[in-house]
Amino acid sequence: MTAFTIDREALKNAALSCVHCAMCRQALPSLTKSNKFADTCPSGLYFNYEAYYAPGRNEIARAILRNEYPLEESEKLKEIIYSCTTCGACEVNCRYICDTNILPVRITEKIRAILAKMGIGPLPNQQKFANYVKKYNNPYGESTKRNSWVKNESILDKEKAKYFYFVGCTTGYRLTPVAEATVKILDLTKENYTVSSQEICCGSPLIRTGQLDDVERLVQQNLEVIQRLKCKIVLFSCAGCYRTVTKDWPEILGKPLPFKTMHMAEYLANKLKKFKFRPMKMKVAYHDPCHLGRHMFPNQIYNEPRQVIDRIPGINRVVLDREMDATLCCGAGGGVKAGMPDYSEYIATLRVEEVRAKGAEAVITPCPFCIRGLTDGAKQEAKNTGLNEIKVMGLTELVIKALEGK
Ligand code: SF4
Ligand code: SF4
Repeated sequence: MTAFTIDREALKNAALSCVHCAMCRQALPSLTKSNKFADTCPSGLYFNYEAYYAPGRNEIARAILRNEYPLEESEKLKEIIYSCTTCGACEVNCRYICDTNILPVRITEKIRAILAKMGIGPLPNQQKFANYVKKYNNPYGESTKRNSWVKNESILDKEKAKYFYFVGCTTGYRLTPVAEATVKILDLTKENYTVSSQEICCGSPLIRTGQLDDVERLVQQNLEVIQRLKCKIVLFSCAGCYRTVTKDWPEILGKPLPFKTMHMAEYLANKLKKFKFRPMKMKVAYHDPCHLGRHMFPNQIYNEPRQVIDRIPGINRVVLDREMDATLCCGAGGGVKAGMPDYSEYIATLRVEEVRAKGAEAVITPCPFCIRGLTDGAKQEAKNTGLNEIKVMGLTELVIKALEGK
C-alpha cells in the first residue's frame, strides 16, 4: 500500500475513534505557558466554529466516508476541509491524550484527495499548483532554469559529492538569499556538495492539498537525479521539502530511501565547532516550523536550531509561549497561503504579535515558507501597531551575518 492508497475503512475507523474531547484545540496543559497564547489550531482560531477544529473535521470525514454528507453544500465543505494548515498541533495532543491512530492531519489530507478525485476540491489557487507543476515542475509557474541563482557553476550537477543540496521551489525561485547563505556556509566548511539543475518539485504542495496524480512522477524523477549523481546525503534548507522527502517519499516508494536526509539546522549544529561567530547584539525569537517539529515525530528537530542561535555571542533568544510541540503554525501551511491569503496573514500576524510580546526585534526560522508567511504577518503587525517591523530571518542567513559580522 502506498501513500496514495486510500483505505476508506481504516480512514473511517480513524475518524470514528475521535471522541470529541476537544483537547486538541489548545496546547496541552503541560505545555501551556499563558492563557493569551494557548490556542494552537489556526483554523479554529480564525473561523471560531467547531467544524474548523480537528474533531469537527473528523466528524465531517466520517460523514463523507459513509456517504452521509450532503455534497451539494460543497462550497462550505471546501472552506472547512481546506482551511486546515495541516500544522499537526491537534495530532500532538491527540497522540498524548487519546488514541495514536486518529491522526487528524492524515484524515484531512486523505479527504482532500477524495474531494479532488470527485472534482470538488481543491481551492482554485491550489489547483494552479498542480497545473504549473505539470507544465514547469514547480508550483510557481516559473519557466526559468532550475537553480539559475548559482554563481559558481562548478557546484552544479557534480557526481559523487557527499551532500546533494536539494534547494526546493520556494527557496530556489522565491527566497534565493536563503539558498545563497546555505552554499556560503557549505563553502566555508569546505564541504563536498552539489546543487542540481535537474531537481524538480518535491511534491509537497500537491500532497498537502490532495492533488496526487503527478506526485509519483516527481518522486521518481528526483530520485533518478539524486542517484545519478551518487550522493550519500540529501541536505535541505526547507522544512517542507525535508518532511516530504524524509517521510512521504518512502511511503510513496514503498521502501526506504537509498540516501540519508539532513536539514541545515542539523548540519549547522554538527559543525558549530568550526564557526567563529562575531558578536551580534540582537534580541530574537525562534519559530519552530511544523514540518521540522511535529511532522517529524518521533524525530522532531527542536534543539539543533536553538543550539546554533544560542552559540552566537550577543544574541539574546527569548522563549515564545507557543513553541516546540505547542508551536503556532505561521499560517502558510497546507496550501492555505495560496488558497486563503487573508486567513493565512491573520495567523501570521498573531504569531508576530507573540514575538512582539516577548520584546524580540527579530524572528528566526529555518523554513522559507515560514519566512514568507511571517514576513506578511510582520508587515501587518507593524501597520496595526505603528511600531517598527519585526525582522524575519532564515537560520542560514543569521549564521552568515554572524560569520561575516555584517
Ligand atoms: S484530541 Fe483526538 S479524540 Fe480528542 S477531539 Fe481531538 S482528534 Fe478527537
Ligand atoms: S492540523 Fe492544525 S489547523 Fe488543522 S485541525 Fe489540526 S491544529 Fe487545526
